Amino acid sequence: MATKSLKARHKELANTQRQLEILSNGIFRDGDLPYFKDKIAEIGMFPLKPRKLEVLQINVGYMCNQVCEHCHVDAGPDRKEIMTQETMELCLEVIRNTGAHTLDLTGGAPEMNPNFRWFVEEAAKAGIQDFIVRSNLTIIKANKKYQDLPEFFKKFNIHVVSSMPHYTRGKTDKQRGEGVFDKSIAALQELNAVGYGMPDSPLRLDLVYNPSGAYLPADQSALERDFKKALLEDFNIQFHNLFAITNLPISRFLDYLIASENYEDYMISLVDAYNPAAVQNVMCTNTISVSWDGWLYDCDFNQMLGLKVGSKVKHIKDYNEEVLNNRNIVISQHCYGCTAGAGSSCQGTVA
Ligand code: SF4
Ligand code: SF4
Repeated sequence: MATKSLKARHKELANTQRQLEILSNGIFRDGDLPYFKDKIAEIGMFPLKPRKLEVLQINVGYMCNQVCEHCHVDAGPDRKEIMTQETMELCLEVIRNTGAHTLDLTGGAPEMNPNFRWFVEEAAKAGIQDFIVRSNLTIIKANKKYQDLPEFFKKFNIHVVSSMPHYTRGKTDKQRGEGVFDKSIAALQELNAVGYGMPDSPLRLDLVYNPSGAYLPADQSALERDFKKALLEDFNIQFHNLFAITNLPISRFLDYLIASENYEDYMISLVDAYNPAAVQNVMCTNTISVSWDGWLYDCDFNQMLGLKVGSKVKHIKDYNEEVLNNRNIVISQHCYGCTAGAGSSCQGTVA
């Protein structure tokens, strides 16, 4: 398993332009598969427009203590893109005035941003209804500096959402790195110990599942039942909900698909599973994503492809929710990942 990002390895797919070419050439250009825009035009959804803004998702940096095989961020310890306090100030101004009810901090490992705790404390004062931190769990066990994170999250009533690709060691470690499963289990037990994830507890703990290979996720509620049973029986761990997320064909997952010669078959399976009912609720219709350097995107995936919002407001310093809400959402063939089967978003299925 790689220990560095695609960027640090100077791989071709670290280049977003190259990814976009792959996503539009070949089977799509040859007409074997329809372009996403043509597919959604069939149901009158092109151009894709936002509905009311509900979620402000802020990526505070691409640095991570892990180098997961399928990471769409191409995150890793070698990534130096980290949000500065100055950009955080601009974000706070927006958080105080936004109509969104959910604030969602992501990364990399957001906790590795040196101003993470200050930012959480300040953002929490804005009284946003649902304040999510996407924690990879192992960061809690990474070193002493992070060991009080469960208490810190509790203090600010943070909603913790964590990736846990499987309830078995083998599948988890294969995707996320050796030793990740054991550390994740220990971190979940510590979160449970302070009240996270317990039945009826207001301290929300949700898990995110994504498939370990080139296939779509199984039914979300069935997976949730299996995870709950296995984690409780084997480790006495409880959590609230499981979100099943489809791997989008970008960054390290795209690299994996191409290297394993699964790219075409995977794209065919996404297009075959296209569900028109999922289109109206794709994540970009209620979300704005902010990058570490303050640029605005329709979602975290578009951020990783370098596709900025199609609006005259492109940076957090010029933020204007009304103007942004009038934009057309920027789409490409990776969007089929959001509309396959029951649909997929950072909050799980959408249809
Ligand atoms: S998937 Fe999450 S935990 Fe894994 S490398 Fe990417 S950002 Fe880090
Ligand atoms: S990838 Fe982003 S822009 Fe495309 S459908 Fe999904 S959320 Fe929307």
